Amino acid sequence: METKRIYIKDTEHVRDEELLEAAEIIRRGGLVAFPTETVYGLGGNALDEDAAKKIYAAKGRPSDNPLIAHVSCPEEVEPLVEYMPEAGKKLMEAFWPGPLTMIFPKSSRVPYGTTGGLETVAVRMPSDPVANRLIALAGVPIAAPSANTSGRPSPTTADHVWQDMNGRIDMIIDGGPVGIGVESTIVDVSGDVPTLLRPGAITMEMLRETVGRVEIDPAIQAPPSADLRPKAPGMKYRHYAPKAPVTVVRGDPAQTAAYIAQHIGEKTGVMCFDEYRDCFPGCVVECFGSENDLGTQAREVFDRLRAFDDTDVRQIWAQCPSDEGLGLAVANRIKKAAGFSVVEV
Ligand code: AMP
Ligand code: MG
Repeated sequence: METKRIYIKDTEHVRDEELLEAAEIIRRGGLVAFPTETVYGLGGNALDEDAAKKIYAAKGRPSDNPLIAHVSCPEEVEPLVEYMPEAGKKLMEAFWPGPLTMIFPKSSRVPYGTTGGLETVAVRMPSDPVANRLIALAGVPIAAPSANTSGRPSPTTADHVWQDMNGRIDMIIDGGPVGIGVESTIVDVSGDVPTLLRPGAITMEMLRETVGRVEIDPAIQAPPSADLRPKAPGMKYRHYAPKAPVTVVRGDPAQTAAYIAQHIGEKTGVMCFDEYRDCFPGCVVECFGSENDLGTQAREVFDRLRAFDDTDVRQIWAQCPSDEGLGLAVANRIKKAAGFSVVEV
């Protein structure tokens, strides 16, 4: 398949003409990768089971790992859900459009092919103007997982998407690098107490301020085990991983840097905070932001993890922020890249 690539220069003022062909591809059942504020998404009609199948095939994603349906306005949620829980209403008002996905009881209109066989559906309204306008023009909710090959770090630029999806999908819309860089926060509002399934830019602190009690699914912090059946099926898969194995070292940054420096072997990669750039002689060093700059860390983490795949490193050590605010999301992605191989110092 030939993949067409189009470039949107002024994403804030994208014109409908620029997106009509993409919208038509979605309506016809094809696949279009597009920018969102979180990461690039791989879009297809969320109400079309065949489109969902194509998404799974293009990503090489296991088909029990459900897709998020993206809408362009709150009114488009109603046909997708059985009913709207109170917590869902509050969170929608507070954080939409934006990087928050919610899990609702699904209506009969949403095919099981999109939800991985589940009775629930994940829905998000992105704030990115290109994403938002594309969904509106397509006239259908767009199922859009991250536009990477399953298991690889999520794409934060159109070049990342091109590396993984060229020849496998109909179109890539290049809107430049994304703003946030880690995927949306996912909160399950289908049960009694809202539960965080994936940390993101809408932080635990922000959620609790809006709805009070929020629980954290244990699969966010710990390796999946045979008896732990994660609520978000994606949690059980290795994720975000470069080809070489990653080990995370957690603790005070000066101490984690010292620990890593003592453990340098042959062909070693280090992903570290900017401050420690010069501490690892002979290593391939990728910096992902200053130790207190979580925004930059979120934007850079996947690009830096991907960069190791162009080198011959055989092992990778990574520093990691603590769990406050956006740090929970960044740390979760790094720990998942490491398959939860974590050293505490
Ligand atoms: P991605 O598409 O790469 O952003 O990943 C989407 C994530 O949303 C996956 O980890 C899914 O498991 C999760 N997800 C989607 N739909 C549901 C659902 N109905 N219930 C729980 N998790 C879901
Ligand atoms: Mg993904």
